[in-house]
Amino acid sequence: MKIGYSLFLGEIIEAIKIDYTDCKNFQIVCPKCKEPVFKVVRNNNDETIDYLSHYEKDKSYVQDCELRVSKLDDTFIQKLNTNSQNQKLEYFLSVLKESIIENEFKSKEIPKPHNHYLSQIKRSKAIAKFREMVFDFSMKHPIYWSEETINEILEDYIGEIKSISGSFYETSFSLQIQKRIAKDIWQHLLTPKTKENYNFLFNYAYYFLITRLEEAAKVRTSNNWEVILHNSMVQIMQKSKDKGLQILTSLGNHPMPENYDGDAPTLFEKLPAEISYEMIGVLLRLPYFEIIKKYNFNFSGDLIMKTV
Ligand SMILES: [Zn+2]
Repeated sequence: MKIGYSLFLGEIIEAIKIDYTDCKNFQIVCPKCKEPVFKVVRNNNDETIDYLSHYEKDKSYVQDCELRVSKLDDTFIQKLNTNSQNQKLEYFLSVLKESIIENEFKSKEIPKPHNHYLSQIKRSKAIAKFREMVFDFSMKHPIYWSEETINEILEDYIGEIKSISGSFYETSFSLQIQKRIAKDIWQHLLTPKTKENYNFLFNYAYYFLITRLEEAAKVRTSNNWEVILHNSMVQIMQKSKDKGLQILTSLGNHPMPENYDGDAPTLFEKLPAEISYEMIGVLLRLPYFEIIKKYNFNFSGDLIMKTV
């Protein structure tokens, strides 16, 4: 395809105008399906053709994008990869992961004791199964993640942070731009090629939710459902796969209180909703201006300021 979409800039980008590293640095994705793409320059006789290509088709997913360059055989892919100057998917995905670690922990690596709990969550087979269910549900029901729903969550999140700390996190971009980027990245994370980042963010949000419930318990009396949710989450993380899944299923036996203002009928539906909420919150508070600047020395923000 001749064009891509930059998650960071919120702009359609022409393949011919960008460099190989720009796909990673400006997080350029397919405008239609939001999967990562990489730049290819192909010489055809005397003519050079610049275009953007999806990473190879994942065998485990039957998902077709109109803009996908189909029928790529292995030798062709290999040739593309050598022509595309090492634009590995891994590098593309590392931008978001590294940025989240840096912003959440103010450190390049996850410090103790957080890394211990996060590894435990990563190792838990019950959580892996649960995460898979939540991801599959989102993939199969895109309507569940409509623009309207995402906007509502973003507003709720901002409202909640404001009510707790008086104001939302300081960001160099306006809140409107922060929301636009968070929404684009969220939609991009709900694609098969970005699952690794989805998993990372899910695990982090799982942990964040546990600590958030603990923090809340220090300043006010927890609701009964919060206590059950917290204890179950900790147990699911520590127990075997079968036991963990049993605890997870048993959350369905705990209806949300009648005065509770939300859609989840029981804690079983409440848990994935809370985790997704925290995942979107993490995306919303990332310092996008600084991240783009870090990867693009000359970035001044003019382009974004003008277009939003
Ligand atoms: Zn696509």
